[in-house]
Amino acid sequence: MKAAVVKEFGAPLVIEERPDPEPGPGQVRIRLEASGLCHTDIHAAHGDWPVKPVPPFVPGHEGVGIVEKLGEGVTHLSVGERVAVPWLGSACGRCEHCLSGWETLCGSQVNTGYGCDGGYAEKMLARADFAQAVPDGVSALDAAPLTCAGVTTYKALKVAGVGPAQLVAISGVGGLGHLAVQYAKIAGATVAAIDVTDDKLELARELGADIVIDARTQDVAAELKRHGGAHAALALAVNPAAFAAVNSGLRRGGKLVMVALPAHGTLEIPIFDTVLNGTSVIGSIVGTRQDLDEVFRLHAAGRTRVVHETRPLTAVNEAVDEVLRGEVKARIVFDLGTGG
Ligand code: NAD
Ligand code: ZN
Ligand code: ZN
Repeated sequence: MKAAVVKEFGAPLVIEERPDPEPGPGQVRIRLEASGLCHTDIHAAHGDWPVKPVPPFVPGHEGVGIVEKLGEGVTHLSVGERVAVPWLGSACGRCEHCLSGWETLCGSQVNTGYGCDGGYAEKMLARADFAQAVPDGVSALDAAPLTCAGVTTYKALKVAGVGPAQLVAISGVGGLGHLAVQYAKIAGATVAAIDVTDDKLELARELGADIVIDARTQDVAAELKRHGGAHAALALAVNPAAFAAVNSGLRRGGKLVMVALPAHGTLEIPIFDTVLNGTSVIGSIVGTRQDLDEVFRLHAAGRTRVVHETRPLTAVNEAVDEVLRGEVKARIVFDLGTGG
């Protein structure tokens, strides 16, 4: 099987021929059909964050494919079933976080494409308990971006407690943001979408954004304040200045939800304004298996639209450059054999 491998941080990925991996107890082997390129994979390949993966590794945590072999003890999945393999590759199931519905905070979790090999390959292994069944009517190409971009933004809006009659700022209309706009609309909110490219701002409008703000030419905080200030802001742009801009655009009692993970990112938070205005700053990391199930069900019901462009896995390095140059409409998905 072919895999795209990070051999060294910052170096181009290498397409390598590897033997098919053998599923151990509790694992399954999946023949991948589609695999999304999340900006996190670029951070992983660059070694951007304080906790680093260990090269060589195969990135990718939006892998979707068909179960082709069951490891010992796996009874709830069958060969031939379509599953998705998210960032949360496994969690302990016993700690306070796992037991209280916060498995995404488990200290013993293993992350797909980071702590174990991921979906930039023709085949991969997954923990069967964390491989999510994809419902009928959701294609592999659509399921891939939902597996991280979808579940992450869906959860971030839950964390913010977004409801109707609220103004929600979506900062960055990329892979994550294009789905965030739609989930915020489903929650009934008024959506202000912020980006720095014309294509993304146009896409945000198409997907239902009520207000679009061009951060190149407009004062983001002032624009949000002109509309009363945001009840919640999702920081999805890989740029610390964009976090500061939406934080300043919150209304009293508003919530900033940090999601993007720029390298060495820090945000200076004014104590006086935060205290007097009663604003909150919250970190949000992906979503649980339950959240992902809800995301898939919304899509199966026709409530969301996934915008993707396909590429062959052999174009992985060009695809990374396209994302970094901001040229991708929303999400690149590697087509590993969907037949179209
Ligand atoms: P992306 O590159 O597809 O999207 C980023 C978007 O931000 C682009 O549309 C870009 O034009 C826009 N942007 C750039 N500068 C901006 C600015 N100053 N103001 C407004 N918009 C601006 O990336 P993505 O795949 O959507 O991921 C975004 C970030 O989220 C990455 O850092 C990724 O690692 C992180 N992430 C976090 C989680 C989590 O669980 N917290 C999950 C997935 C991804
Ligand atoms: Zn745990
Ligand atoms: Zn991701």
